[in-house]
Amino acid sequence: KGTLYVVATPIGNLEDLSPRAAGVLAGVAVIAAEDTRHTARLLKHLSIERPLLSLHEHNEAGRVGQLSARLEGGEDVALVSDAGTPLISDPGFVLVRALRESGHRIVPVPGPCALVAALSAAGLPTDRFVFNGFLPAKRGARRNSLEALSERAETLVFYESPHRIRDSLEDIAAVLGERRVVLARELTKTFETFLDGSAEQLLERMAQDPDQARGEFVMMVAGAPPRDADAASLDGQVILQALLA
Ligand code: SAM
Repeated sequence: KGTLYVVATPIGNLEDLSPRAAGVLAGVAVIAAEDTRHTARLLKHLSIERPLLSLHEHNEAGRVGQLSARLEGGEDVALVSDAGTPLISDPGFVLVRALRESGHRIVPVPGPCALVAALSAAGLPTDRFVFNGFLPAKRGARRNSLEALSERAETLVFYESPHRIRDSLEDIAAVLGERRVVLARELTKTFETFLDGSAEQLLERMAQDPDQARGEFVMMVAGAPPRDADAASLDGQVILQALLA
């Protein structure tokens, strides 16, 4: 039986593709790609010629049988997305779940992932974090999502597009208040920038310099501050007195 390799590809800088990833891509029978034209450019850069098959959110379920049959026939398959690690806000979950359930061998070939790169350099706590993918596009739903996260003590991590970065920062200021926000923009690319401050300060930066609102973003927000220890012990005293009474 063949193996499905889940291969991470660069999030900007092509040098980030690992030698192992290149070897795997060069060796498989077929590469299932989110966008075959996009992946064709990467393969050209690597001087690798392999057949490509599209696998995106609209046809993923339909591809399962086809790829499963090829694996059964002893062929190896690679899965890639346009950038970074497949399945992380990218297609692949439906395929991997189905192949895992049917007992196929699935091997990750780790590499770039925007959220991990962003956290590794942001200076916010990383011992625990909540990755939330993209916030909803509509303001009401976005505010509800932020509201639902407002008590979480872990660092909050979001993916964000240039079209909505300002709207999201406005909602963070409104719903989460004065927390530290770190924006990682254009990671591994020429205009890689980290901005740090409250959501309102970051909006001011973008008003002064609109370039700061361009490109791809990982948005990280400090978790909820710990509850006031004095208030907690006061509660304790109130409870103790009530019990004694
Ligand atoms: N699978 C990818 C990964 O492993 O990071 C993420 C794919 S998701 C469709 C694309 C989003 O990831 C972008 O909108 C942005 O929020 C984030 N992203 C991808 N590349 C990035 C980069 N170079 N700098 C900052 N954020 C990036």
